[in-house]
Amino acid sequence: MPELPEVETVRRGLVSLVIGKTIRRVDVLWPKIIESPEVDQFRNELVGETIEGVGRRGKYLIFHFTHYDMVSHLRMEGKYEFFPEATTLDKHSHIRFVFTDDSELIYNDVRKFGRMSLMKKNTGLQYKGIQQLGPEPTNETFDLAEFETRLNKAHTMIKPLLLNQKIVAGLGNIYVDEVLWLSKIHPEQPANTLTTKEVEILHQAIITVINKAKEAGGTTIRTYLNALGEAGHFQQELNVYGQTGKPCPRCGTPIAKMKVAQRGTHYCPHCQQLKR
Ligand SMILES: [Zn+2]
Repeated sequence: MPELPEVETVRRGLVSLVIGKTIRRVDVLWPKIIESPEVDQFRNELVGETIEGVGRRGKYLIFHFTHYDMVSHLRMEGKYEFFPEATTLDKHSHIRFVFTDDSELIYNDVRKFGRMSLMKKNTGLQYKGIQQLGPEPTNETFDLAEFETRLNKAHTMIKPLLLNQKIVAGLGNIYVDEVLWLSKIHPEQPANTLTTKEVEILHQAIITVINKAKEAGGTTIRTYLNALGEAGHFQQELNVYGQTGKPCPRCGTPIAKMKVAQRGTHYCPHCQQLKR
C-alpha cells in the first residue's frame, strides 16, 4: 500500500509531467472508481480543463484544474502512469485522461479500491476523508503539545492509534514500525502510559522517518512504482520492517514479528519492551 512518502513521490512525478496539460477526453472503464459526481458529469466537466497544480494531504492527491479540484486516493494498489503518446490499455487500466497534445495519464489499479472525486475549485481540502486527518508530520504543522494531549487521553495501544491518521497523518504499517523502533517503544504500549520524554522522542522520530522516506522517494514493496516508473529506495534504510530474524541494528537481538490489531508488526524484543 502506498504510504505518505510514496504518494508524495507520485505527486512530484505528476507535477513534472502533467502541469499545464489540457484534457481533451476522459475514458472511464471502471465506473466505481468515480465516487462523485456521476460518471457522465465527471467526464464532461473535465473536458477543456487544464491541470494547474497537484497537491497532497496525507495519502490523498489533489489535482487542481481550471475550475475544479479532483481528490484522488490510491488506496491499496492505485498508480498513475504517464505516456507521451497514445497507448494501449491493459486490463488494470481504469481511467484514461487524454490531453490535447495526445499524451495520456492512465490510472491503473489491480484491486480497484482507489477513488476519485471532482469538487469545486479550492474545496479539495473539505473532502470528508481529508477533514478527518491529523496534521502533516512536519516541524511546521505537527505540534508537540497537542500530540501529547491527544496521547494522554488515549488508552489504546500506540501502534493502531498512530495508524488511524487522526492524531497525525501519513503513518502506515511500514513507517509506524520504523518510528516505534527508533523511539524504543513497544507497539502495544498504551498511549497514555508514555512519558513526556518518550512522547517527545516519538514526535521527532515521526517527522524524521517520514522526511527521510520522502527524500528517498518512498519504499518499493511488491509492485509499487512511482509515476515516473522509477522505484523508491527507502527499503535500504529499513531497520525493522520486513527484517524478521535479522539482528537489530542497535543491539543485535533478532527482530521479531507479531500481530498487533491484525497488522504484521516488526519490533526488537530487547529495545522495545512493554512497560506495565
Ligand atoms: Zn534492539
